[in-house]
Amino acid sequence: MSLQPVIGITTQTLEAVPGELPRCWVMSQRYVDVLTQVGAIPWVIPLTRDMAMLREIYERLDGVFLPGGVDMDPQQYGESRMPACGVTDPDRDRVEVALVRWAMEERKPVLAVCRGVQVLNVAAGGTLYQDLAEWCDAAIKHDYWPNEPRQRQDLVHEVLVEPQTQLASIMGEGRSTVNSMHHQGIKRLAPGLVVNARASDGLIEGVEGQVDDGFLLGVQWHPEELVESIPEARRLFEAFISSSASYQIDAVPR
Ligand code: MN
Repeated sequence: MSLQPVIGITTQTLEAVPGELPRCWVMSQRYVDVLTQVGAIPWVIPLTRDMAMLREIYERLDGVFLPGGVDMDPQQYGESRMPACGVTDPDRDRVEVALVRWAMEERKPVLAVCRGVQVLNVAAGGTLYQDLAEWCDAAIKHDYWPNEPRQRQDLVHEVLVEPQTQLASIMGEGRSTVNSMHHQGIKRLAPGLVVNARASDGLIEGVEGQVDDGFLLGVQWHPEELVESIPEARRLFEAFISSSASYQIDAVPR
């Protein structure tokens, strides 16, 4: 019998009124809604410092979803912090890096968006641009922060999906137009990961594992905002859930 796959969704620390209100762990409802729409049982994950407990949670997941969020602490990739690096959340970094590394060891499915693809690259041994001002003179604009008249689902730049990648098998290869709400990006690609999409300025916009790595895939844009308007965006989530359901069936009975 196949059950709906349980998908872990990481959170972010929120301290709405420092010193007055308790610290919280929060995540956008959008991710939970979209994953639920395509058949997941969502499990919102606390940023616990108890790694044994985190492992217990991990063992019960059929897939790991890494959402967007604040910047990664450059310490995670061995660099000192530059002024342009934004707010960080060390508890989130630690939990997400651990979850990705465990999932990579066991080929448990991982889907990562925006900050998530950056976490995936760092967890696998790569580095990031702390700010895309470091990137290149011909850089296109990537930081379309939502405000009037901009919305999160606005398609603002092209990406080229590389042929013969898992992403191409889901979305189709070639040009696609995506939303873009990031000021950091992948600098050095992690060993073992493959680029599956690039922006027109050459910036890496997506990575995935090798053929034998199962579903290990991240994109720099926000497909969760596009599931109603672009069938390819929905197919990305469906493919992740389908792989997570297969992983559950194939897994040793627990
Ligand atoms: Mn972009």
